[in-house]
Amino acid sequence: MISTRGYAAMTAKAALQPFSFERRDVGSQDVLIRITHCGICHSDIHQARDEWGGSIFPMVPGHEIAGTVTQVGSAVKKFKTGDSVGVGCFVDSCRSCPACQEGLEQYCEAGMVLTYSGRDKNGRTTQGGYSTQIVVDENYVLRIPQPLSSAGAAPLLCAGITTYSPLRHWGVGKYHKLAVVGLGGLGHMAVKIARALGTEVTVLSTSERKRKDADRLGAADFALTSQPETFTRLRRHFDFVLDTVSAPHDYNAHVNLLKTDGTMILVGAPDRPTPLEPFPLIMHRRRIAGSVIGGIRETQEMLDFCAEHRIESDVEVIPIQQVNEAYERVVKGDVRFRFVIDLTSLQEAGH
Ligand code: NAP
Ligand code: ZN
Ligand code: ZN
Repeated sequence: MISTRGYAAMTAKAALQPFSFERRDVGSQDVLIRITHCGICHSDIHQARDEWGGSIFPMVPGHEIAGTVTQVGSAVKKFKTGDSVGVGCFVDSCRSCPACQEGLEQYCEAGMVLTYSGRDKNGRTTQGGYSTQIVVDENYVLRIPQPLSSAGAAPLLCAGITTYSPLRHWGVGKYHKLAVVGLGGLGHMAVKIARALGTEVTVLSTSERKRKDADRLGAADFALTSQPETFTRLRRHFDFVLDTVSAPHDYNAHVNLLKTDGTMILVGAPDRPTPLEPFPLIMHRRRIAGSVIGGIRETQEMLDFCAEHRIESDVEVIPIQQVNEAYERVVKGDVRFRFVIDLTSLQEAGH
């Protein structure tokens, strides 16, 4: 067993606190990774607070993991000591269902093994990246290519792939108009990736103070969802709406912004349902769809795409001792645009 230090939520109501636990020994197909950085995804907060139900405690959150390989098992082929690598939202899947065979492990019929708050094949609880090191089967490890930095690449492992995958799946490109709803961790990655795909992007936000950021990120337009004229001015304007919002809100108003045959893609995962009106969908043959993260092959493709286009996340790097304060700021929308924990703060501190 490998002694590991991290920060955990002991219950849904508790602040995160120092926590020591054991990782499995490095098996023949495993890679041991010293974690240098881990992003704070809003999903970490939903799960640490058990807002979706089913959380397993104690929970070490974190599924935007970047680090360096420190040891490899005897049968490992893809990685060697010293490689820059990443781990995203899952660390295993059944490997035999049609989804896994197609490289769509996120849709595994047996259910993917989540990086934390999950159970591995031996029934052990998985623990995530707010920790010093992690042991992962090489088939579920990603290569972080040059010139991406570890801090700027960590959020790509969830926020990056969650926005890249639906944009690619629905073929969003040069001739499309896209609305990104919510300029947070996912939203700012969506703007960057869509711009690199040549798409015209409008940011729909609740925060006037993000207008300048939207412009800097390459958005052609910005509009406030609190203003009724936004919904008249941009009526039937978009081919796609990508909704990244973390809290319940009115989907119907956004559906009305789609052209005929337009698609609204939900990636934001509020903890409560929202009423859906049939008429905005019926009248223009519009669709609402959803998407969750991406498979291993596509995640590697996304990392390579980001390296080629020099795309990283805009990050605010913090020591782990500030994680609870960071959670409060994420909930208030007060981060540009992703907190990333520098895990050397934990390696040095001891406890
Ligand atoms: P985030 O950084 O907190 O961004 C969410 C943004 O939503 C905020 O910045 C804010 O943008 C907007 N927002 C927040 N509260 C709102 C409200 N009450 N009404 C309207 N807008 C509001 O969160 P994130 O890490 O990007 O994650 C966003 C959501 O996606 C979360 O629910 C998360 O669990 C989910 N998620 C899903 C997947 C997937 O695979 N589908 C993967 C990762 C995360 P403005 O200030 O611009 O309004
Ligand atoms: Zn996430
Ligand atoms: Zn499967």
